[in-house]
Amino acid sequence: MKSRNAVLLVLTVLACVAIVLVNWVAPPIQKTIEYTKYSTVRLNVFDTEITLIGFAESEEAFAKNAEQAFELLENLDRIFDAYNAYDGLNNLYYLNRRAAQEPVPVPRELFELISWCKQKWDENLRSTNIAMGAVLSIWHDYRTAGIASPDEAALPPMETLQAAEAHTDFQNVVLDANKQTVFYSDPELQLDIGAVAKGYAADAASALLSKSMPSFLLSLGGNVYAGEKPLDGRSAWAVGVQDPRAKALEASISGSDILDIIDVTGLSVVTSGDYWRYYTVDGVRYHHIIDPKTLMPSTQMQSVTVVCQSSILADFLSTALFVNSYEDGLALVNSLPGVEAMWVLPDGKIEYSAGMTKFVRSLQ
Ligand code: ADP
Ligand code: MG
Repeated sequence: MKSRNAVLLVLTVLACVAIVLVNWVAPPIQKTIEYTKYSTVRLNVFDTEITLIGFAESEEAFAKNAEQAFELLENLDRIFDAYNAYDGLNNLYYLNRRAAQEPVPVPRELFELISWCKQKWDENLRSTNIAMGAVLSIWHDYRTAGIASPDEAALPPMETLQAAEAHTDFQNVVLDANKQTVFYSDPELQLDIGAVAKGYAADAASALLSKSMPSFLLSLGGNVYAGEKPLDGRSAWAVGVQDPRAKALEASISGSDILDIIDVTGLSVVTSGDYWRYYTVDGVRYHHIIDPKTLMPSTQMQSVTVVCQSSILADFLSTALFVNSYEDGLALVNSLPGVEAMWVLPDGKIEYSAGMTKFVRSLQ
């Protein structure tokens, strides 16, 4: 028995020596891939500037990933376009013109976006109401006219807005999930998906990019999605929150247009602000986010920034929080797991939800 144990011991020692020798003779191949940071900008998609930054093995690999993402975004831009028709495409423009006559089959992406928003409506989240197109288009027309002829800029009459408000009930958007059709049972109802379209698009493009170039940052105007951490040693992506009251020229010279920096990975950061789109009537600025309760541009906030995983949710909530008080908004944020927010109040005071402090650089 003893001699058998001795033999086993010798064999074990020999095996170990062999393993060590093999590893010494042929060390495991450690091919280190070098990742380089690249970036590119595309204009005129979603009426904004789209920036993509990513870490890739080569410039060609980056260009290929970027092209795929931009192709997806351009396709979505056509589907979500409310102002132009495209041959053979039942886009939002087509839907708004046809859906009161008959159920209109729409592309999967448009159906998904509308269903998602209707679900929120059913959950009683109604401050962002994409069925408010009848009211929003009046503001859009007055704003466009006011920007073109500032001397004649005027506010829409309240009676006109109230008459349109009668046609903003989401219940009158009838969805058929099997047929993927949309029908408006109120002939004057119109959808305006401006509050969530970029968020949906950011989610779709980010899902695609995550497969081929996981370390990336995608920005669609105020809609940012940060992928896996940058491959240059930093632990997170830095996303600037714009100072709503920065003067454009001063800011571009001094770089002082940034209020704070939010450090994130695998999260969306979306800001709604009163400084994106507005026009001026008798010296007063009127911006583009309308409170469904007053039918007027909300005066509750200068900006609201939302951080959460889903970009469409962040986009939806940034608009919703913008038309609510800080107190009501905070209660909503606290009721939603994984959602954080930062409010810039009318007097410039900044408020944060509890979990937001772990992302905001000045609070570290
Ligand atoms: P931006 O598109 O400038 O990033 P938002 O995401 O807040 O800002 O969306 C604003 C757009 O959403 C407006 O241009 C308008 O089309 C639409 N909108 C404005 N107010 C509302 C609202 N209360 N509910 C739904 N959509 C709105
Ligand atoms: Mg929004």
